[in-house]
Amino acid sequence: MEITRRQALRTTGLLSGAVLLGSTALGTQTPANASESGWRWCQKCEGLWFSNGSGRGICMAGPGVGHSTENSGYYTMLAIGEEIGASQPGWSRCQACQGLYYSGAGRSGSCAATLSGSGGHYQAKSGYSLEYAGQNDAQEHRQPGWRWCDKCELLWFGARATFAGNHLWNGAARDQCPRDVLGHRYYDYNANYRVPHVGLAA
Ligand SMILES: [Zn+2]
Ligand SMILES: [Zn+2]
Ligand SMILES: [Zn+2]
Repeated sequence: MEITRRQALRTTGLLSGAVLLGSTALGTQTPANASESGWRWCQKCEGLWFSNGSGRGICMAGPGVGHSTENSGYYTMLAIGEEIGASQPGWSRCQACQGLYYSGAGRSGSCAATLSGSGGHYQAKSGYSLEYAGQNDAQEHRQPGWRWCDKCELLWFGARATFAGNHLWNGAARDQCPRDVLGHRYYDYNANYRVPHVGLAA
């Protein structure tokens, strides 16, 4: 039942992705040398996505309509050098799904725009860096709780997740990780990131 539904979603995602990629033959791999607003949280897939790009991207939890801005605050990606704490470079934005994913290890992960999940993200912009969560998160309007999914490489908000086996997911929407039906995953020994944020709590 769930597999069938998932396959249907992926098929839709593939078609949408093909259109997106066709209209932007070459990504602009420019470094993030200015802070960038327009980032929102998607309550369906838990991902952070860029809303000032082309459309709403592709969401695993409903690719036909893309990501959601409902209940999301407003997030900003810092320019290199604007970090106030220790940070990790090597993050990129995907042109197809509009998500933020880790490209620093040379992997492209799994993108909702591909049918099988074996296709990776399509790099539209590189050079993003994320601060590690730590002291003064609240005072600096930094929201901690953001995690890297080691399966799809996407950044996702793990603070709402419910533990289940090795995976942590929002029980209301398992179809949130492009890699498989078990949802995004993080381990406690992996980094907890914080993202500059105003407005509603994610
Ligand atoms: Zn989404
Ligand atoms: Zn992608
Ligand atoms: Zn994932």
